Amino acid sequence: MYVHSVLKIKAQTRQGAVTVTALETATLLEATQKLATHKIGAVVITSPDGRVAGILSERDIVRVLAQSGPDALSATVGDVMTRAVITCTADDTIKTLMAKMTRGRFRHVPVVDGQGLLTGVVSIGDVVKFHVEEIEHEASALRDYITQPH
Ligand code: AMP
Repeated sequence: MYVHSVLKIKAQTRQGAVTVTALETATLLEATQKLATHKIGAVVITSPDGRVAGILSERDIVRVLAQSGPDALSATVGDVMTRAVITCTADDTIKTLMAKMTRGRFRHVPVVDGQGLLTGVVSIGDVVKFHVEEIEHEASALRDYITQPH
């Protein structure tokens, strides 16, 4: 199973079809509002040419709020985001993706194309949803096989 299989399923839902991004000049408050509006846990930070410049997750926001208090919300995303982003490609396997998430202890991986341009993002929630649907599909196929007359 491949990352593109997950992206295909995501694209069928209105919410999953959009990759939410922000520029590093945005304020933390603006980024927080994006997370809330789209009901997501991380926003990919892109440079104006569409390349991945960083990632900002709810954990980064909680950390900076705990350190600096509510004034931190007027800081820029560029001051807080993670710059060393681990990405994947649509042709990576889900196994490779999960290994990256486990090794790096993060729950989001941006997907880039051959030119390094952002094409999507896969979260641990997307992977779990994909696996559950796959198991249900297999169970249903097995049930049909068992109950049909031979
Ligand atoms: P998360 O578990 O995805 O909410 O993120 C936990 C921490 O890892 C935060 O500091 C994020 O900025 C960082 N992070 C999230 N995704 C990635 C990624 N793909 N590569 C590198 N760091 C990441």
